[in-house]
Amino acid sequence: MSYHVDQNGYYGNFGGAFIPEMLYPNVEELRTNYLQIMNDPSFKKDFDQLLKDYVGRPTPLYFAKRLSEKYGTRIYFKREDLNHTGAHKVNNTIGQILLARKLGKKRIIAETGAGQHGVATATVCALMGMQCVVYMGEIDIARQAPNVARMKMLGAEVRPALSGSRTLKDATNEAIRDWINNPLDTHYIIGSAIGPHPYPDMVTRFQSVISEEIRKQLLEKEGRDYPDHVVACIGGGSNAAGSYYHFLDDTRVNIIAVEAAGKGIDSGESAATSALGREGIIHGCKTLLMQTDDGQITEPYSISAGLDYPGVGPMHAHLYASKRGEFISVTDDDAMNAGLELTRLEGIIPAIETAHALAVPQQRPFKKDEVVVINLSGRGDKDLNTYIDHFNL
Ligand SMILES: *Cc1c(COP(=O)(O)O)cnc(C)c1O
Repeated sequence: MSYHVDQNGYYGNFGGAFIPEMLYPNVEELRTNYLQIMNDPSFKKDFDQLLKDYVGRPTPLYFAKRLSEKYGTRIYFKREDLNHTGAHKVNNTIGQILLARKLGKKRIIAETGAGQHGVATATVCALMGMQCVVYMGEIDIARQAPNVARMKMLGAEVRPALSGSRTLKDATNEAIRDWINNPLDTHYIIGSAIGPHPYPDMVTRFQSVISEEIRKQLLEKEGRDYPDHVVACIGGGSNAAGSYYHFLDDTRVNIIAVEAAGKGIDSGESAATSALGREGIIHGCKTLLMQTDDGQITEPYSISAGLDYPGVGPMHAHLYASKRGEFISVTDDDAMNAGLELTRLEGIIPAIETAHALAVPQQRPFKKDEVVVINLSGRGDKDLNTYIDHFNL
């Protein structure tokens, strides 16, 4: 069985490109060019150079001694929180803006929910001197004021989506409309391993630098280039896809995917897509999707804005359906406790998205000699108010 994308853009039964006719030329231009551009030595050189000098890669692989002692196993953290802008998202926006430049594009659009992808996009647009328009639901603009301010400071225009529930899916619709109207000069940077083919594969390849580095770093530290378990949280699935990529076909490595259970899987307030979802189409791909019996998308819930998404990327739907991945869901409370525990035991304040992955050793025992790599997808500065309110600090 293959866990990589096939010629038609599918991972098993999931993926593809379900798009309006008018978007076809844009997506087709990308599909026919992305691999060739990404494999071009001059592209690779620019990408690697920026990852090194601008983002700060390679990020460390840190052995968490105190946490490992507590859980009786060997836990390493891949420190994506130390990237410029504080999370893994910039790996993808750097890659896509370089690709847009190769395609001759002058203008960048993006959608954002919590604003993290919007900030990562506005950052690289400032770096490259490209015009940047970020679509964001009116409700999210009000909820995420600091990130809106960051995008504006970086020179991006933040356009409110005023229709529907005025959140992420409405912002996505506005971005798609913009792209249809501006096919020649504009590139649409999608922020996770979702969307029509080739986006999931393209984003995964840009993020795969994470597992590439893990291999080298483990060889140095453990004398072997693979862990027993690789753990990551899943919103749309980009940090997870990047952490798994070089281990997908290596069955010595157990893949653990962590979803947000919110207030509990059966509470009606959850974002645990593998447990609650069925096959459906969202944002241009066939995947697992939380929906009502008549196919309306269910409003997801999680305390972490980055995991509050009703679908998962098609790679993850396939990892679930084929049982290659072990899927675990973690509640708000368990994630918050794990975030505080990491802070107090290791002096690292994690993003609340990441804190879901950190709760895994509490829910699932590991053996003493096992090597467990957890992807520390982002830092918690953006979440301080949520932590402080939750714990009455
Ligand atoms: C956006 C975000 C996520 C979720 O997105 P994925 O595409 O699933 O990786 C996870 N962690 C952090 C820190 C984020 O900012």
